[in-house]
Amino acid sequence: MASILVVEDDDAIRDAVRRGLTERGHAVATAATGLAGLERILADRPQAVLLDLGLPDVDGLTLIGMIRAASTVPVIVITAQDDDPTMVKALDSGADDYVVKPFGTNQVEARIRAVLRRGDRALAHEPIRIGELVIDEGARTATLAGRRLELARREFDLLLALAQRQGQVMTKREILAEVWQQAYGGGDRSIDVHLSWLRRKLGETAAEPRYLISVRGVGVRLVDPDAG
Ligand code: CA
Repeated sequence: MASILVVEDDDAIRDAVRRGLTERGHAVATAATGLAGLERILADRPQAVLLDLGLPDVDGLTLIGMIRAASTVPVIVITAQDDDPTMVKALDSGADDYVVKPFGTNQVEARIRAVLRRGDRALAHEPIRIGELVIDEGARTATLAGRRLELARREFDLLLALAQRQGQVMTKREILAEVWQQAYGGGDRSIDVHLSWLRRKLGETAAEPRYLISVRGVGVRLVDPDAG
């Protein structure tokens, strides 16, 4: 259970998100404008913020900057579909993650859990452990069964991004935005190449995967191969 602030001017979406998260035991506060949201963040200190980028009073990217100047609260941005450049700018401005409309409560809750876990780990300086894979974000190192993996910068970033969403499929579009920090423009080939390098270093192949599971036509997810 977490305390969550939802900043969204669309009444129907705001109510649906509030209801969905409340039903799952979260304490949800809402705001319909950017400035009201900022006030609630400062007054209530929620554990996570869901922030619609299209608000009537303040530009969403400007608002992220204002939030970041005042708070380290994780911010999950709500974006309209097919708006990659804005999504990339939002991540660059200090947002922690995003969901694309329309989205369900499951997805939002998974994203909230992920940003909260990341925050806990960052505070504790704890590496991510998935099966025999250990990824230390601070030291930028990864080991498999105690053996250090020699990863290029982008391979490490890709592994880290997938590990932070353990078990969830990341689409190529999301990988491109988060790891390559590019809007979608047909970088599939580059992602495929990096995935195959990463696979080789993890000692697996696309035909016999262990950690990196491709979902045809969708993307890829990182799993614990021994978790069943
Ligand atoms: Ca809106």
